Amino acid sequence: MPPQSFVNGGGGLYIITGGMKAQKSAKFIQLLDKLHHNGISWQGFKPACDYREELNYKNNIPRNYFVSRTGPNLPAEEIDDKGDLSDLIGKIDHSCDVFAFGEFHLYKEAEKLKDIILELRYEGKKTCIVDSLDKYFNGENIPTIAQLMGQATDIEKTYGTCDFDGCKNLGELSQRLVNGEPANYDDPPIVVGASEAYQIRCFGHHIVPGKPEKRILLPSQ
Ligand SMILES: [Zn+2]
Repeated sequence: MPPQSFVNGGGGLYIITGGMKAQKSAKFIQLLDKLHHNGISWQGFKPACDYREELNYKNNIPRNYFVSRTGPNLPAEEIDDKGDLSDLIGKIDHSCDVFAFGEFHLYKEAEKLKDIILELRYEGKKTCIVDSLDKYFNGENIPTIAQLMGQATDIEKTYGTCDFDGCKNLGELSQRLVNGEPANYDDPPIVVGASEAYQIRCFGHHIVPGKPEKRILLPSQ
């Protein structure tokens, strides 16, 4: 998409989404870098809990940076993801053309963040770019991002290659492993960090013990 289409004066909402390790952060950062090089002003926000020692500390990148597993990084405002988002509201620079929200799914007040993004998009006529998981590890939709997708101008889904031994299929689902074993359907949905606890898997290798069967057309297995 041409960079100038992000400053059309009418607002917009672009969502980059997929499973864990699907390179969505890398694409998000590449897009912001492209906007910067085309003279488009943007302001980024990241949840404070998204501090990954294996990425930030080892590469000497400050806390308040978007950073992807593949290396690129850019500065952002660090936001208290457990709070009421008053810090985010106070930091918004309304002179910017574009607002970028990393790791949307990690915010406790994701519903409120969704409303802020929609206000910027519709009332402020600004363009918002959102990077988020689309589904929990158990394969269920994350409701707030699903709702935002319904209001989006454009959605880019990202994929990886299935991490299961010997499989090269399209990886689209986050596989959570606890002590090397697949996590149960009812386990808490989000655990930050611990990248070793997650893989990306194809549908056939996505294993979630306890997941309810929802078969209508085909016989139960
Ligand atoms: Zn597979």
